[in-house]
Amino acid sequence: ERRRGSAEPGALRTGVAAGGMAWRPSRRQRRSKQQQKKELLAGPGGEQGRGRQAGPPGPEAAPAGRSAALRARMEERLLSARFRYINQQLYTSTSQEAARLFQSDPEAFEIYHRGFAQQVRRWPENPVNRIIRYLRRRPASLVVADFGCGDCKIASSVRNKVHSFDLVPLSPLVTVCDMAKVPLAAESVDVAVFCLALMGTNLQEILEEANRVLKQGGTLMVAEVASRFEDTRAFVNAVAQLGFKSISK
Ligand code: SAH
Repeated sequence: ERRRGSAEPGALRTGVAAGGMAWRPSRRQRRSKQQQKKELLAGPGGEQGRGRQAGPPGPEAAPAGRSAALRARMEERLLSARFRYINQQLYTSTSQEAARLFQSDPEAFEIYHRGFAQQVRRWPENPVNRIIRYLRRRPASLVVADFGCGDCKIASSVRNKVHSFDLVPLSPLVTVCDMAKVPLAAESVDVAVFCLALMGTNLQEILEEANRVLKQGGTLMVAEVASRFEDTRAFVNAVAQLGFKSISK
């Protein structure tokens, strides 16, 4: 909940340093990097090798079908490796650098989103659905800002006025901008959402922007993968220093 204006400059920085919260790759990210390396090392030869171990094809085997299936599998693995690579880039650069990445390489954005959707389908719950359920329980008159909206699932699922921001438009509902600088007046929204989107290393600047556009008493909602944080409590404390009161975790 927003309690006051922006904190004194440098407050989150101090908090982050004191809490030891650094934006280095988490253990899981490191593991996935190792896994990625292994997969890259395994390469096409690895797949073929494994295919051969399954025994020589019988006379009824259709080689064309098998090679199409193999190709599809390889493409799938390549896509997920490229997704992990871009994801890692986004989590280790500033939001301005992320904007430049997607501008200079539109394909990267498309790959990122296909990979993201694939990833989320495997989860027991997509946090965006929880946020939608939460919004549906609250008055539809509340104005929402969705920072890093992706395919605008929130805007298309609730009756509220939703401002959807992303670097590239996946939907006509998107306003293209860097989330560190959104085209909204100060104190104009009731709920600011970051659903798996608090990616830039300049997160103080990003959260200050959310603070700027939120009305006093407004709600900031952040959904992130726990492994992203070295110390979740330090993050929560740092957000408090920006002028928010934690109401639930
Ligand atoms: N919130 C959506 C999408 C999450 S994926 C959902 O939960 O389904 C993260 C999104 O953040 C991506 O669409 C990515 O393009 C966007 N994003 C990353 N950095 C951004 C930035 N600096 N400014 C705006 N959007 C950004």
